[in-house]
Amino acid sequence: MKFCSECAHPVSLITPPDDTRERFVCTNCGTIHYQNPKMVIGSIPLWEQDGEVQVLLCRRAIEPRRGYWTLPAGFMENEESTSDAAARETEEEAGARIEIRQLFSLINVPHVHQVHMFYLATLLDLDYAAGVESLEVRLFRESEIPWDDISFPTITHTLKFLFEDLEKLRSGKGDFELHTKDLKRHFREPIPT
Ligand code: ZN
Repeated sequence: MKFCSECAHPVSLITPPDDTRERFVCTNCGTIHYQNPKMVIGSIPLWEQDGEVQVLLCRRAIEPRRGYWTLPAGFMENEESTSDAAARETEEEAGARIEIRQLFSLINVPHVHQVHMFYLATLLDLDYAAGVESLEVRLFRESEIPWDDISFPTITHTLKFLFEDLEKLRSGKGDFELHTKDLKRHFREPIPT
């Protein structure tokens, strides 16, 4: 941040009195510009037929990671809930209608100031289509997942959690659970916008 969004005066990076962190402070109007993590919300759209589960992925049409596969996800907007955001992103990127199920993964990515959350979802029909941010949208069986061409670590982790839980379900040893994880800086890839 270079300029105050209230008065357009240049801002300074200083620690305000009674604070413990540096903030962008406007020395003209006194506004303290707090910056906090952003929420990235997505869904895991599942299609089940004859006992076989497939998951809907989108191939990104935009940078970063253009051409790589992702779950439908994006930044949460003001005035929507997390599940609204998951359904909206799924409609925008995959042209797909879903029924939201439980929260499935919550992954902190502190070094890029983001929290990623993915909901399990049931795909309601097969009339999906690539939105403007996607080159292609298709269903994948576990054996077909393009692991080397997944866009971001949070997607890879979420898909691994998914297939682990599906295996537990198949063998009667468990059910879907909420998975949480904190990623460290060595994942240098940028995170989706
Ligand atoms: Zn100002």
